[in-house]
Amino acid sequence: MKRRSILLAALLATTLGVAPALALALDVVATCPSMGALVRTVAPNANLTVLAGPDRDLHSLQAKPSMIRALRGADLVVAVGAELEVGWLPAASTSAANPAILPGRVGYFEAAAQVPLLDVGGSASRALGDVHPAGNPHVDLDPVRMAQVAEALAARLGQLDAAGASRYRANARRFAKAVDRRLPDWQARLASAPGVVLYHRDAVYLLDRFGVPLLGTIEPVPGVPPSGRDLRKLTGELRGLQGVIVHAPYQSPKAPRKLARDLGWPVRVLPMSPPLGADGNGYLSHIDAWVDAIAVAN
Ligand SMILES: [Zn+2]
Repeated sequence: MKRRSILLAALLATTLGVAPALALALDVVATCPSMGALVRTVAPNANLTVLAGPDRDLHSLQAKPSMIRALRGADLVVAVGAELEVGWLPAASTSAANPAILPGRVGYFEAAAQVPLLDVGGSASRALGDVHPAGNPHVDLDPVRMAQVAEALAARLGQLDAAGASRYRANARRFAKAVDRRLPDWQARLASAPGVVLYHRDAVYLLDRFGVPLLGTIEPVPGVPPSGRDLRKLTGELRGLQGVIVHAPYQSPKAPRKLARDLGWPVRVLPMSPPLGADGNGYLSHIDAWVDAIAVAN
């Protein structure tokens, strides 16, 4: 919270003779636009900074001075978590010298810690090059998990700003209801989806939610690029099937294009996060775009 907001709140309290009833303008930092969309939905009055746009790969960002500046004044950090940001966020938070936002403190919130994770306890191992030994962190493409995360986020915001707690709860509830209303349509559009090949296991929560088959991944192990042999093996396994190949803008298009050519499948490039300034509605449109892309075979 900025000193100015505190002073203003104190001034209001003095002038009106009552405690300020309005929610405070918390300074919130979200690591990516999906998390930013949740913050805008649950706490539209927050001063929000989103650290990376949808064109950036959260696995491999570098801590930058602008991030450290934003983290220095933050009341709350909203991360995807499950070690997705482990390569840069801890370093940036430590450099920001703001103990209130370190893991374990009320000012640090992870989406992945609020919901059940997929890919936990399998063969995942850093020794094999797997970047996600703690389970799959990419929960933000599942709208149902995101609704649960929104409610947990509302509770956390309420701890930081008790006067705004009921409003945060109501906003999260509204988002959860909006998700509920869309589910039957998404389910219907995806009922006969042929299946998807992903570059990385970054959309498995969406596929799992709607029962869309994951036919394969271009990476043999999460975080490990495919060899020519890996690609030939995958092509052999998929020949004769129908499906769509989807990859993110920051993943090399070379292998997806080759696979698409060899199989005669369409290839789609879709961001993992909605646009930088998206709110809850922007997030739902982002899920719509994914549903459109994977519902259609050829
Ligand atoms: Zn990943």
